Amino acid sequence: MGLCITNIRIFDGTPTPARAGSVRIEGERIAAIAYAPDTITPQADDTVFDGAGRTLMPGLIDCHVHLQLGSTVEAMGKPGNFPPEQLALTAAHAGRVLLDHGFTGAFSGGSSSAGAELAVKAAFDRGTLPGPRMVTSSMEKLPGGAPGLIFKFPARDTRPSDPAAVAAFVEEMAGMGLQTVKFLLNGVSAMDPGTNLTEQFHEDEIMAAGEAARRCGVELTAHCYTAASVKVAIRAGFRLIYHCNYSDAEALDMIEAAKDTLFVGLAPGIEEADHIRAPKFGVMASEGQVAEQANAVATKKAIGQELRRRGIRSLPGGDYGFPWNPIGLNARDLELFVEWFGYSPVETLHAATQLGGELMRMEIGQVKEGYLADLLLVSGDPTANISLLRDPANLAMIIKGGAFHKNTLTPAPVPAEVA
Ligand SMILES: [Zn+2]
Repeated sequence: MGLCITNIRIFDGTPTPARAGSVRIEGERIAAIAYAPDTITPQADDTVFDGAGRTLMPGLIDCHVHLQLGSTVEAMGKPGNFPPEQLALTAAHAGRVLLDHGFTGAFSGGSSSAGAELAVKAAFDRGTLPGPRMVTSSMEKLPGGAPGLIFKFPARDTRPSDPAAVAAFVEEMAGMGLQTVKFLLNGVSAMDPGTNLTEQFHEDEIMAAGEAARRCGVELTAHCYTAASVKVAIRAGFRLIYHCNYSDAEALDMIEAAKDTLFVGLAPGIEEADHIRAPKFGVMASEGQVAEQANAVATKKAIGQELRRRGIRSLPGGDYGFPWNPIGLNARDLELFVEWFGYSPVETLHAATQLGGELMRMEIGQVKEGYLADLLLVSGDPTANISLLRDPANLAMIIKGGAFHKNTLTPAPVPAEVA
């Protein structure tokens, strides 16, 4: 008993254009793909849908998801240190909104409660709550043992280095079952003005984090604005570095030298949001901050174009979850890859699918026989007009693990020769 979708164009996640074809899903996986002039012959008890020329593609993957920050396009909420029970409900809601918008994969960019992060991942995996596949993250680590979200960023020079405490934090997070550990190597100007350019950790602390991560089998991610933070994260073996605005020539060369193991998440979405929408929320609102953010946008554009030129695995995912940048706008990052970084829609979608699957280390992100059937059926052709993905009304089907999260089509009559 399978599911056949015929009369479709297939974008398979690789950097090749969409082609006419049909697909068959059995259980949670893609069982067969046929490209025109070949076609799939449904089996006797299959359910068959006529895709009517729509585009089938892998579900989208976002490399920088914060399910617990509190804001979606449906409900606004401030980030904060709420009880884990509340954060779990916040994350469950955000996960459903993300899936409704076609994101079947979420690589977490940091949580506030490890317990809530693990609980929602378990519920999404079991299918008891709707949400994407997840790679989980620790809370975003600040120096000095401060737990949770504390948006104050005293520079590292205000305290002595303590590599043992940083290594112990990695071990603790790994022991809780989290898959990645996130470090804020620079401050966050949107929360503490001017701190994007401050170093928060000593170099030996970050090297100790890298060693601890290798020992414990977890991976490290980092919030990096300065060239120095990019370099130390790469030296310490981090798997994913975010933002990277002020990378210098040496940092770019190091990124390129590490490109077989490293991923970059430039997060253009938050850059645009901090510039355009945050001031309306009283954030990044002073004249100096508006100027700082205009500069951050300009540097981000240049870095994004340079990473594309160098063939770096640069992935969409824009730090959505803040009130001025709510979850549900995630596909805006895809447009920004085209508008700011010069990617073609196909290159952008390849980054948001196949490369996202590589980051998550799962058999997702491609329309490929044997892969998990995490798929979207899009009305129209997103490889020609990527903006179609901004509007969930264009998602005729959202399939996760072979099961419908959304389906707007009615099955076609089973062909006579099969019945
Ligand atoms: Zn973030």
